[in-house]
Amino acid sequence: SLRIERLNFAYGDTPILRGIDLHVREGEFLALLGPSGSGKSTLLRLIAGLESPTAGRLDASGRPVSGPGTDRAVVFQHYALFPWMTVVDNVAEAVAKAHPRLPRSERRARALKQLERVGLGEVGGNHPFELSGGMQQRAAIARALALESPFLLMDEPFGALDPINRAKLQDLLIEVWQGSTPRRTVVFVTHDVDEALLLADRIAVMGATPGRIIAEHSVPFARPRQRAALFKDAGFH
Ligand code: ATP
Ligand code: MG
Repeated sequence: SLRIERLNFAYGDTPILRGIDLHVREGEFLALLGPSGSGKSTLLRLIAGLESPTAGRLDASGRPVSGPGTDRAVVFQHYALFPWMTVVDNVAEAVAKAHPRLPRSERRARALKQLERVGLGEVGGNHPFELSGGMQQRAAIARALALESPFLLMDEPFGALDPINRAKLQDLLIEVWQGSTPRRTVVFVTHDVDEALLLADRIAVMGATPGRIIAEHSVPFARPRQRAALFKDAGFH
């Protein structure tokens, strides 16, 4: 679980987050909505351990967050693959973090399997710059999933994708989330209300004046499961 209490953060003298209180249960899928500049990405960076709070408490799995860790996989809107490695090596590196003792050939086999799941089985041998933006983003998601980390932190991960790949990856994310035991805890930043309703158990809204949670809503029924079932019945997957 994720426990955030009275969390404050400032860039220099400028306060950005002022008293964030948020608790995300283990296995919960939380969407974070809010206007531009409200501090969503900043909050995610703090959870990822890429920034340190100026005050307050931030615990992941009961331990204070004190830097990045392989327990928290992060996906940003703009793919962050290592440009000097092939796509499969990018993912294999994440597999190695999750399973340090695995032989190299087995890491690559698992990486390829992850790439197949995001529809990139054919391009593993390419370098990231040889792929389209949407393909690079899918590779970044494959890499994050390969870490098998209990927390998945995503900052508008599908924002730059075309509608079809967006829908496919939304469904893949739900499938992975529902299929993993124990379930991953997801914090998913989006501007898209429909996407939040589709994916999340609960939606937290950050206020326009940075930066506090001003509302929380539970999402009452399981739309993703319905959509995944529809896709399947219609022969799309
Ligand atoms: P968007 O929806 O546009 O992505 P956001 O909710 O993610 O917005 P943040 O990127 O977290 O918002 O930014 C919150 C505030 O922090 C903004 O006022 C922004 O100008 C400021 N900010 C972000 N990064 C920095 C930085 N590196 N240095 C100084 N100020 C920053
Ligand atoms: Mg942002």
